[in-house]
Order: sequence, then C-alpha cells, then structure tokens
Amino acid sequence: MKKEFQAESKKLLDMMINSIYTHREIFLRELISNSSDAIDKIYYQALTDEKIKFDKENFYIKVIPDKESRTLKITDTGIGMTEEELERNLGIIAQSGSLAFKKETEIKDGHDIIGQFGVGFYSAFMVAETVTVITKALGSDTAYKWASKGADGYTIETCEKEAVGTEIILKINENTEEENYDEYLEEYRLRAIIKKYSDYIRYPIKMDMTQRRLKEGSKDEFEEYVEEQVINSMIPLWRKNKGELTDEDYENFYNEKHYGFDKPLTHIHISVDGTVRYNAILYVPENIPFDYYTKEYEKGLELYSSGVLIMDKCSELLPDYFSFVKGIVDSEDLSLNISREMLQHDRQLKFIAKNINNKIKSELQKLLKNEREKYEKFFESFGSQIKFGIYNNYGMHKDALKDLLVFYSSTEKKMVTLAEYVERMPEDQKYIYYASGETNERIDKLPQTEMVAEKGYEILYFTDKIDEFAVKMLMNYEGKEFRSVASGDLGIESEENEDKAEVENEENKDLFAAMKDILGEKIKDVRASKRLKSHPVCLTNEGDLTIEMEKVLNSMPD
Ligand code: ADP
Ligand code: MG
Repeated sequence: MKKEFQAESKKLLDMMINSIYTHREIFLRELISNSSDAIDKIYYQALTDEKIKFDKENFYIKVIPDKESRTLKITDTGIGMTEEELERNLGIIAQSGSLAFKKETEIKDGHDIIGQFGVGFYSAFMVAETVTVITKALGSDTAYKWASKGADGYTIETCEKEAVGTEIILKINENTEEENYDEYLEEYRLRAIIKKYSDYIRYPIKMDMTQRRLKEGSKDEFEEYVEEQVINSMIPLWRKNKGELTDEDYENFYNEKHYGFDKPLTHIHISVDGTVRYNAILYVPENIPFDYYTKEYEKGLELYSSGVLIMDKCSELLPDYFSFVKGIVDSEDLSLNISREMLQHDRQLKFIAKNINNKIKSELQKLLKNEREKYEKFFESFGSQIKFGIYNNYGMHKDALKDLLVFYSSTEKKMVTLAEYVERMPEDQKYIYYASGETNERIDKLPQTEMVAEKGYEILYFTDKIDEFAVKMLMNYEGKEFRSVASGDLGIESEENEDKAEVENEENKDLFAAMKDILGEKIKDVRASKRLKSHPVCLTNEGDLTIEMEKVLNSMPD
C-alpha cells in the first residue's frame, strides 16, 4: 500500500531537494552519518545489555556502486529499524529518531551521535530518483523494505534480510543537460567524497576498489582486480592525546590538509571539556599564503561536528586580525546544521570563536616571550595584519593586540616590544618616539632623528605604512604618548634653543619669505629649527598627520 508523506513533509521535501543543501555530494555524508549513528546505537545498547556483543570487527559501513544497474548502495551493520521506526523516522520529514534516542537513553556519551534534525536522509533525493531502504532491527525477526520516489509518497513491505542492519539503495538519476550524475557511481569520485566529509567517522567505511597490477610473469601486461579497502582514517588527530603526538605528526597533518606548501611555524592543539566541548588544531603558517593580501583570500577554519565535516571555511571562527590561522575545529555540541545562516547565530559557535581567539593570542604571546626569533619571523609575515587589527573597527581590539607589536629600535638595534621600550625609558623622557621611513637605513639618516638621538632616547622605526595609523589609534602605551620625531613639539626643546630660534627667525625674515614664495603651495611655513645638529634642513609637520601618513593617504584611490 502506498502512503503519502504528511503535508508539511511534502513541502519540506521539495525545498530540501531543491535548495537547502548547496552541494549535492553531501548526500553521502548524510547517509554515512546515519549509518554511523546506527552503529553507535548498538554500541550504547551493548554497554547496558549483556546479551548484545559489540565486537568492533563486525561493525562497518560499506559503499557499493554499480554502474550497470545505476545504483549506489550504502549498507551498515547498525541497529536497523522496525516497521514502526521506518514509518516514524522516514515517513515524517524532520522527525529525528536519533534525537529521540539521545533523549531517551541519557547515556552520557550519547553526544557523539550526529543526527538530530531529521532531514539528512532526504538529501538522497538530490541524486536519486528512487530510494529503497531494506532494514532489520536488532531483536526483530522480520525485515522491511521502504521505497519512495520522492514527494509523492512511500511504500513499506516485508522482505528478506539475513543480518541486522540497514541497506540504502539509491537509483541514481539519469544525466540531464545541466547535471551529470554519473560521478556518484565512480569509485574514485566516491572515495574522494568519503575522504572529504567522512574521514573521521569512527567505524570503517569500506569500498571495493578496482586496482591494476602486472600480470604474473609479464613485464608489460596489466590486469584488473578488486580489493576491499577501508577509505576513512577513523581516528582524527585532534582527538588523540597531545602527549602521543610529535611535531612531525602535526606537520604531516598540515600538509595532508593542504593548509600550505610551507611548514607551520607553530601549532596549537586545544581540547576543551567545559560547557561547550570542542577540539581544535590550529596552525600559524611560516610564510604568507600567496593570495593572502588579495581579495581572493578567504579566512576560516574547517568545522566538524563529531568528526563530520560541516564547512570548509567557517569564517565566523576567526577575527580578521588572525585571518592567517589555518586549522580545524570539531565539536560534538554543535548541531550538524543545515545552513550557513543558521550557524552564524549559533551560540556555541560564538563561544568557540571567542575561546579560540584567546588561545591564539596567548600562543603568540608565548612565542614572543620564549622564541623571539620565531616570533619575528611570524611578525615579518603577518605583523601588518595585527596592526590593521588595532586600527580597524575604531580601535575596538587595540588593547588585546598592542602587546603583540614589535618595532625596530634605534638603540637596541633589534625588534622590541612597547613594554620593553617603556621599561627602559629614563624618567625625564615624556614620549615614546618614533620615526617613519622606507627602510631602517633611511631612517638612520633622517635629520629629524638627531635631537632625540642626541638626548640618548630610543626611537622606534616605522617602516610599515600602517604603523603610524595603528599607533595613532593606540594613542598611548601605559600612559606614554607616541610622538613622531618629525613633530613640531618633541617635548625636549630647551629654552635657550627656543630663544635662539626666535632671533634667527627675525634675522632671516626676508630670506624665509623668498623661500616660501618659491615653494608656494608645497609648504606652509619656513622657520629656523631648534632641533638640527649636523643637517642644514628638515621637514616637520604640524597637526595630526605626519608627512608619512599624508603620503599614504595621498597614494590611496579616492
Ligand atoms: P537525523 O539523522 O538528523 O536524525 P535523518 O533524516 O538523517 O535525520 O534520519 C532520520 C532518522 O532515520 C534517523 O534519526 C534514524 O532514526 C533513522 N535512520 C536513518 N538512517 C538509518 C540507518 N542507516 N540505520 C538506522 N536508522 C536510520
Ligand atoms: Mg542524519
């Protein structure tokens, strides 16, 4: 007898097939997740019921494509479904048996079960014209067959099935002009999809792979043979114990994941077991990704829910100033959500993002303190991003980031932090001095630095265009204001000098007027300087913008 889906279900099914999922290929992720949940359920029952034996060897998922019949079969040795469960779980869309199971069984570890939305199964209709489910529940003698062609309904009848578990058989769509469905019957394509989305499912996902080998006794004749392979790697690196892992393990993972062609500069392995549980492995790359400072670069971390990939690049997990960080986050507390929009409002996700942000910050601080050379390498690559972070959003993040800054120091001849600078300041020094220029060598020769240097004060060299902007946003560090050596008021002019300048201004009035005439718009004033030692002239500025900043602003497109 044919039964209709409930009315809402019909609509939902339509929506499902046509719009909810952006990538067709995820139907396989959904079906494999369901199989994994079904095996989990047997496992949990075995924990409390002595009659059930859970022998890991016998629990697996197998994916079987058959081009001839155009079917793709996903079988599992999980808990199976009774007739009633078939009706309830697959007859009403958005009905999640898995969620009910989690609620019923109060088993603490139940949080590993992935399903809870009750829609994943129907994604099969994105690639299949008919879906058949053959299933036998644990403890039942009868097997049932559920079949549906999509929105118009489904049938349930009894059938033959020896072992407990479920078989999902998809009759893959014929190709259309717009869509090619053949790929879902190709071994290599299927393997790639499994690797991508289901690599960390905890039970083996098997497939018969066609291989080639030299014919026995022959040097150039090949023959094909079939070998059953386990496709997924099962235990994710991030679930392993930090103590068991070597730097090499982390490096290999970085390369396997294609986070970069370089080596990671450092990695952060996080396991949080608090209100929101999550594991993460994060990397700071050694080199700037080739597209990092282009519009094409997309920040984000891979996001998993209990070992199942939800999103390649979840941008909500990283602030812009840490956009160079690569890695993965896995949380069993995240709903295996169906859309990006929903994720953006997820409280758990926000919590994780904040937590990760703090961990990255403290890792960088640790690097700065203990491995200065490495930190400088990092800063050379991504320091600008940190400075943009200080400048952007009206300085909202400046306090969190200011201690990550390092600048070249005129007296130390190396990179120093602001804290180190302030620590060294003599008591009579009012300001934190800086000089801007293209390179350290050029700044060394700037006439404007003379007076400050003569006083024995340290000068920070700003060679990055963003430096002054960042510092203007900071305003001060521990109450000490920043002051450009090119500024009109350095806070060290002596009265004697000032008087002398007054006199010289008066004496050279005509000369200065003539110079102003010639230079016209290019300058505002010509004055006798109070600060030069060995250089005859220098440019200074008045007001907020320094000459260097004006240059940057002038070079920007309107
Ligand atoms: P969800 O996984 O979010 O609960 P699905 O639409 O993916 O929603 O699946 C609906 C329900 O169907 C599941 O909760 C589960 O009870 C049942 N189910 C689906 N596939 C299987 C399977 N392979 N073995 C046993 N039960 C299954
Ligand atoms: Mg599911």
